[in-house]
Amino acid sequence: MLRIALMYEKKKIFSQLQVCYKTTSVNDVQTQGSSVLKNVNVPTNDNENRRKYSSKPKKPPVNLHGSKSYKVGEKRRYSPFHYPGQSTVEWALARVDDILNWGRRGSLWPLTFGLACCALEMMHYAGPRYDMDRFGMVFRGTPRQTDVIIIAGTVTNKMAPILRKTYDLMPEPRFVVSMGSCANGGGYYHYTYSTVRGADRIIPVDIYVPGCPPTAEALLYGMLQLQKKVKRMRMVQTWYRH
Ligand code: SF4
Repeated sequence: MLRIALMYEKKKIFSQLQVCYKTTSVNDVQTQGSSVLKNVNVPTNDNENRRKYSSKPKKPPVNLHGSKSYKVGEKRRYSPFHYPGQSTVEWALARVDDILNWGRRGSLWPLTFGLACCALEMMHYAGPRYDMDRFGMVFRGTPRQTDVIIIAGTVTNKMAPILRKTYDLMPEPRFVVSMGSCANGGGYYHYTYSTVRGADRIIPVDIYVPGCPPTAEALLYGMLQLQKKVKRMRMVQTWYRH
């Protein structure tokens, strides 16, 4: 009889522990389980406990403009407010940057630097079919009045110092578009004795247009990408912070 009574008591305790486990956390099972073992009537299944433990964890607030620092490869939509908590001065300087960038990107004057067959596609890009003038881009014959240099063709060792000197004559801010496989990395002539394996060994390149030759549309797309890059420049803000 005693054994049956003990078994019955054990079964009762076990069922109560199961209820606790379903409604409470592991820690509560440990604390409340001991009280159940002492036959203390603890309310484990009441509404209060259910509300307490079943509520969803709070999510951190979503930052619409992202954090201050950009991660590598992060794509972020352009916003006039770069980050929350921006001061009034910073906001005003950002607007000055916007105005300057608007002017710059609407009047990118490229310098012709046709070195080989790619130059023909560059000429098509200037022609009426693609009509680069509609983006405010007009070829200039002197580096002193240009914003961007389009390297269209094979850069040879002999041409390299001239390319560097031409680039040095351009006023700041200046940009470089490398057009075609030859200018990007040597192309067909990568293993010859006379070719520079990429214009970026001589001057820093902003936009690479791939192809041999790249089409005029490809160059146009590259120039539009450059416009996008100019749009995000923060020259005044950088000056203010340093
Ligand atoms: S990339 Fe092709 S088309 Fe352009 S210069 Fe080199 S060989 Fe000529």
